[in-house]
Amino acid sequence: MSRVQRLVSDTQERGVQSQKMCQKFIDRGYPKNIVQEAQLWVNYPKTSKKQSECIPFVTQYSDYSDSIVQVLRRHWYILKNAYPTVNEFKLPPLISYRQGKTIERITFLGMRTKGMFPCLNCVQCPYVHRGREFVRPNSDLKIHLRGYYTCVSKFAVYVLICPCGLIYVVETTQMIKLRISQQRSAINLGNMTLPVAKNFVEKGHTSSDQLRFMVLETIPPQKRGGDQELKLKKREVCWINKLNSLYPAGLNRDYDFFLFI
Ligand SMILES: [Zn+2]
Ligand SMILES: [Zn+2]
Repeated sequence: MSRVQRLVSDTQERGVQSQKMCQKFIDRGYPKNIVQEAQLWVNYPKTSKKQSECIPFVTQYSDYSDSIVQVLRRHWYILKNAYPTVNEFKLPPLISYRQGKTIERITFLGMRTKGMFPCLNCVQCPYVHRGREFVRPNSDLKIHLRGYYTCVSKFAVYVLICPCGLIYVVETTQMIKLRISQQRSAINLGNMTLPVAKNFVEKGHTSSDQLRFMVLETIPPQKRGGDQELKLKKREVCWINKLNSLYPAGLNRDYDFFLFI
């Protein structure tokens, strides 16, 4: 019976052949329960030994974990076939997850950690207020970021941080780096219609290089046709309240109440 196991590589076919072999033994007068036990033993061999031969694949759990495990399992046969003599490659790896550690940025296989990071590929990168949390200047308020954000995040509520500590909360459906570019040129042009640029002029901040930005939240596409932009607007208002960024504590002037009528 273990010969069937060895010679027939296709799992489904192996099952059929193994069943036929059992029937042959029973037909020849072997006790049914012993034949069945032998079949079980062949199909599910000495687990403790086999398990110890598995290679442990230790990784940090993330949204991508299921896909990673599927890829590993699907392609494991490459290793198995390439190194038939290596026992450890005979069985798929044993997946184990470790608890999240303070690994910054992208870790193995693109698994992402939470926080705000430069995309490393744009001119706005130097102005990223990076980190896993936002501490509101002049307060004890600390916000833990719940996603992975960069200069290319879209549908984002973000905060602009003035060198004097005043903050301005705003949303965008575009990539955030485009908005930062516009905000910084408004500052450089001394545009008095935009609150942050106006503050730069009034406070005598010298350069738009002093501005920092951080994404607070991004809104994913809504299920069942929900309005992503409306949700974004609502979250902007929530953040303005939460961070107390309305004038005079912050640079926000008002919000669009009409959205809630
Ligand atoms: Zn960037
Ligand atoms: Zn300022």
